[in-house]
Amino acid sequence: MASPVLRLKRGRDRPHWHPWIFKGDVANVGDVAPGAAVTVIDADSRFVGRGFFNPRPTLCCRLLTRDDEALDADFFRRRVGAAVARRAEADLARLVWSEGDGLPGLVADRYGAVVVVQCLTLGMANAREAVAAALRTAAGDVAVFGMDDPVAARLEGFAPARGWLDRPGPASAVVHEGPVAFRVTFGMGHKTGLYLDQRENRLLAGRLAAGVEALDVFAYTAGFACHALRGGAAGALCLESSPEAIAGARENLALNDAAERARIVDGNAFDVLRQLQRDGRRFGLIVLDPPPFARRREALDAAARGYKDINLRAMRLLAPGGWLLTFSCSHHVSDAAFEEVCRDAAADAGVTLRVVERLSQSADHPVLLTVPETRYLKGLLLEAV
Ligand code: SAH
Repeated sequence: MASPVLRLKRGRDRPHWHPWIFKGDVANVGDVAPGAAVTVIDADSRFVGRGFFNPRPTLCCRLLTRDDEALDADFFRRRVGAAVARRAEADLARLVWSEGDGLPGLVADRYGAVVVVQCLTLGMANAREAVAAALRTAAGDVAVFGMDDPVAARLEGFAPARGWLDRPGPASAVVHEGPVAFRVTFGMGHKTGLYLDQRENRLLAGRLAAGVEALDVFAYTAGFACHALRGGAAGALCLESSPEAIAGARENLALNDAAERARIVDGNAFDVLRQLQRDGRRFGLIVLDPPPFARRREALDAAARGYKDINLRAMRLLAPGGWLLTFSCSHHVSDAAFEEVCRDAAADAGVTLRVVERLSQSADHPVLLTVPETRYLKGLLLEAV
């Protein structure tokens, strides 16, 4: 099929196994409208694949296929269909995860009868209607809500969607994660509504919580705290700074009959952790789930200091025998680097911790071996001994 050609520079072989093409990889590109499909060839004119091209961002093309096929409605039906078929039927699930599902630039999350779609590239934003149709074919009679990330939209140059794509659905839904219920109000909050990558880790927190005082740091809508309280925690303290997240946390705690045993502190977690230490508080379960401190590689040193600081504080707040669930969602921070930071923090805190489990993102965020960026969430379950 005829689409403009993008030729790679000699020696730029990475696109043969990794879907990302940066401007610096490109020798030349034909006359292509921003967001339209290009056929990618290497310096020897060998076919590499096809993807949407955008001259605006540095990451100018993400390959969607390595076959000579059109990127049309049928393509999306096949790809989305395969992604949905890989998931177990569930009320709450990531149905499509970008590179991990061979659909770079597209995220789709199921919340009951609603699927929330996030487009991260101009090409994918242009294909929204085909994506919605494909989701409906694969996932049943769902209402599709568009909720694009404004940062990605600005970078790529498109108007971020925030609304129903073709027909309206309910304003909110109550979804279940094991024994816990969450209310998701469409168009509100971060990501597509919930941080689905932490689903299995929240269930784990629930199993560790019987009888403990829990501390949920960077709580968002109190996901970990709700699981801890459902799992029998005596109390939970949530630290969060976003008013919208705090409103959602109050609602979720009430929904799980846990409001009386929970308290939310509105403030900067770095400061509140220090204050809790001054107050001599101790917790049997602490969750540290910060936002990505290193969004860019250049920010790694500052990020390491941030991770070390919160981990050091949390370790000092652990009761004897207590559990620390600590995470980093920066893909620039490797497992080894994260563990090193935690090791430094433990040494400074003077606390002995056993590594009980190494944790990652939920299984419906599949990892591609040749695309290390697809494994971004890492965590440790540590036990104070
Ligand atoms: N654990 C949550 C997800 C956490 S996302 C869950 O399972 O749902 C990180 C959260 O940290 C966001 O809600 C963000 O608003 C909050 N946050 C970011 N910086 C913060 C700070 N300095 N102090 C307190 N909260 C912060």
